[in-house]
Amino acid sequence: MKISEIHVYQVDLPVVNGPYKMSHSSVWSLKSTLVKIVADNGQFGWGETCPVGSTYNESYSSGAAGAIAEMAQGLIGTSVFPVPLHRRMNDLLTGHQYAKAALDIAAHDLLGKHLGLSVADLLGGALVDRVPSYYALNVASPEEAARKALDKCAEGYPRLQLKVGGRPVEEDIETIRRVWEAIRSKSVRLVIDANRSLLTRDVLSISRECHDIPLVIEQPCNNVEDLQAIRPIVRHAIYMDENTINPNTAVVAAGTGLVDGFGLKVTQLGGLHMMRAMRDICAIRGLPHTCDDTWGGDIMAAACTHIGATVAPRLLEGVWIAAPYIEGNYDSENGIKVESGHITVPSKPGLGIIPDESTFSSPVASFG
Ligand SMILES: [Mg+2]
Repeated sequence: MKISEIHVYQVDLPVVNGPYKMSHSSVWSLKSTLVKIVADNGQFGWGETCPVGSTYNESYSSGAAGAIAEMAQGLIGTSVFPVPLHRRMNDLLTGHQYAKAALDIAAHDLLGKHLGLSVADLLGGALVDRVPSYYALNVASPEEAARKALDKCAEGYPRLQLKVGGRPVEEDIETIRRVWEAIRSKSVRLVIDANRSLLTRDVLSISRECHDIPLVIEQPCNNVEDLQAIRPIVRHAIYMDENTINPNTAVVAAGTGLVDGFGLKVTQLGGLHMMRAMRDICAIRGLPHTCDDTWGGDIMAAACTHIGATVAPRLLEGVWIAAPYIEGNYDSENGIKVESGHITVPSKPGLGIIPDESTFSSPVASFG
């Protein structure tokens, strides 16, 4: 099966009760880039990539559309199977994993539908029919964060991620302590995520002042050298997220024990094919991880859920999707949602969702 057409769409996904606040940015609406690949037998599949703004990492929405356009004509006639597809994409463009991921997801959807298999089965086989999710709490005051944390515990989330950074570290410490006091009796795990923003000095302060709280600290600092500096002296587990945008960095971090786990993102790594590889490396090394993405609608949520269902449950930290923060679905019948802090794995072939194309504007670009 060869690729015969590629169509690119862009849709706006406003943040419900926005903004979504991280250490270095607040976002009110995200532009998602959707890809429809049509094969020479008429089968089609959908992919998506949606950077959460332009400063989260080295990605942005116009860059996604531009990078896909850079590759698209050269992909016509290429096999839809992941190995030749990735080889061809890498021949056409260096880097830009987040754009390649949209094409990779579309190819998996297409292959699954063609073979009558779910994407989870294509990725090795689902172990569960429902995966745990986690909720990301905005950077907020101690009172607001603690109140929201309790609400989310009541909804059934087994894990909470508290965003920190971008303000005096004393405020973060107070917020962490207040949130922990609120939820400590609830059997809910807590991770703090600084999204690269903390100085090593501040990570040491947090770890010292919160030594009695069983935290995971996710991507505290901007670069690998900072992680290496704090690694031997913090009291808490450290996970890597944004630095995995370089696959070599992720593999070395897993192999050398630089971190205790990962926040893995489908688009950061370059798609489901790379997620599968990293999943297996993490299983070999006994490293827990999430299966997430930066943002996106039903297509991305389905992709994250399918790969999450194939992770050994003891290593799956959760599947984060943007659904709780956005309104509406691409597929009004089978749209992906979080219920009681968990997500049901779609069972239909491919991603298990069919976007309603009639709700999208005309393609921003078509190739073939
Ligand atoms: Mg993160």
